[in-house]
Amino acid sequence: MAALNEFDVIQTFFHRAAPEGYVGVGDDCALFSVRPGYQLAVSTDTLIEGQHFFSDVDPYDLGHKSLAVSLSDLCAMGAEPKGCVLALALPQVDPQWLQAFSSGLHALAAQSNCPLIGGDTTRHPYAVTITLTIFGEVPITQALRRDLARAGDDIWITGTLGAADLALRYLTQRLPMDAERLEQTRSALERPLPPYAFAPHLLGHAHAAIDISDGFLQDLSHILTASHCGAQVSWADLPMHPALRGVAPALQQAAVLAGGDVFELCFTAPPTERAYLLDLAAQHQIRLTRIGTVVPESGLVVVDASGHALNLPAQGGFDHFSA
Ligand code: ADP
Ligand code: MG
Repeated sequence: MAALNEFDVIQTFFHRAAPEGYVGVGDDCALFSVRPGYQLAVSTDTLIEGQHFFSDVDPYDLGHKSLAVSLSDLCAMGAEPKGCVLALALPQVDPQWLQAFSSGLHALAAQSNCPLIGGDTTRHPYAVTITLTIFGEVPITQALRRDLARAGDDIWITGTLGAADLALRYLTQRLPMDAERLEQTRSALERPLPPYAFAPHLLGHAHAAIDISDGFLQDLSHILTASHCGAQVSWADLPMHPALRGVAPALQQAAVLAGGDVFELCFTAPPTERAYLLDLAAQHQIRLTRIGTVVPESGLVVVDASGHALNLPAQGGFDHFSA
C-alpha cells in the first residue's frame, strides 16, 4: 500500500457520515445545535504514550478509552453527549494501528451518541499524543456540580473501586505478576465504561457529583472542599472489586481509596431520593452503592466495621506534578 498522507489518514480512519443536523469532518469547523433551554458542557483530556498508556496497549482499547475518559467528565455534570473532536499527533502512520484505534473510538461514539465531528492530525517526534475534546448538553442551571453537596446527603458511587489500580500495579511490576488477577482487572484499566446514559437522569435528584479519575478519597475531597462540608464513609460499604479479595489489606486500602483511572461517578443526594436512585440504577444495569453521609464538619473520615477511623494512606491520589 502507498504511504498514507495526512488527508488519507483523516478520510480513511476518522471521516464518518455526520448525523442529521450536524456538519462533521471535512469543513473548517464542525457545526451542531444545542436544544433551547440547554447549555454546552465542554471538557478536554490528553493521553500521552508512556505517560497515560503503554506503547503496546491494544489500539482498539486505546481508541475506546480516549473517548471514555471524556464521557466520564460529562457524567459528572449530568450532561448528555453531543459530539467530540480529536487532535491526534503521531510519530508515524501505521494503518493497522490507526484502523484499530479509530474502530474503538467510533464504536463507543456510536454507542454513546457522541459522533466524532472534527479534529486535527499532526506528526509528533516520538510519542502518540491524543487530545479529545467532548461536547455535551445540559439544561441551563441544572448541571451537577462539585459545590452543591449538603449535610445529610447520602454519598453514592457507581461500579466498583480498585481494579484499574491493581491492573496497573501488575503491568508496571510494582506487584509480582498474578496472571489471574491481571486478567480479572485489566478491562477496568483499558476499557472503562462510564455511566453516560444513567448520569443525565440524576439532574433534579442528586446535588453534587464528580467522576473518580485520580482516586476516590481525593475526588470526594474535591466535592467536600467545594461544598464546605465533610463526610463519613464506611469502609465495609465501599464496593471493592472482587479481584481484590484475598490481597493484603494495606494494598486493598491503597487501591480502593487512592487508586486512579476508575471513571465511575461519585455523587451526593438527599435520603428521600434513595428509591428513585436504586430504581434508576436497576433500569440502567448500573451497580450503585450508598457508601456514607455528608456531615457539616469539614474532614473525610473512613470508619471500619467497629466504627473506628482508618489511618488513611498518605498518598491520597494521583497528581501529575507530585514529587
Ligand atoms: P484545517 O486545515 O482547516 O485545520 P484539516 O486539514 O486539519 O483542516 O482537517 C480537515 C478536516 O478533517 C476538518 O474538518 C477537521 O476537523 C477534520 N480532522 C482532522 N483531523 C481529524 C481527526 N484526527 N479526527 C477527526 N477529524 C479530523
Ligand atoms: Mg488542522
